[in-house]
Amino acid sequence: MYTLQTSASFDSAHFLKGYEGKCSNIHGHRWTVEVTVASEDVAEEGQIRGMVVDFRTLKEDLKELADELDHCLVIEKGSLKEKTKEALLEEEFRIVELPFRPTAENLAEYFFDEMEDKDYQVVLVKVYETPNNCAGYSR
Ligand SMILES: [Zn+2]
Repeated sequence: MYTLQTSASFDSAHFLKGYEGKCSNIHGHRWTVEVTVASEDVAEEGQIRGMVVDFRTLKEDLKELADELDHCLVIEKGSLKEKTKEALLEEEFRIVELPFRPTAENLAEYFFDEMEDKDYQVVLVKVYETPNNCAGYSR
């Protein structure tokens, strides 16, 4: 089996509703997502002969997903009062609502699913919220 790994980073703010501690307040991270994909084979002909996939394609596909979460406030749906959300949107802040608590663990699963939707055989996704702390997801 062959594996390829690439990474992408994005900057965004989040908070953890219902968490007792510093993370309940809005704060930012430079998130780094590391994705490992696998394949039994490499291409036999053409431009990508001998490759699983062009690294450029893999990087672009991951970057596209990371860019959707870049420079915004990532929130769990329903975790802000409507009034607060409206006020933030009125100020033209960008909010991305996700159907889960925006933890590194859940973001790892999110990127796993999204990369699978792009037809990659995903093996592992790691999401770093600091250079020292990361959460991984695989199945
Ligand atoms: Zn955080």
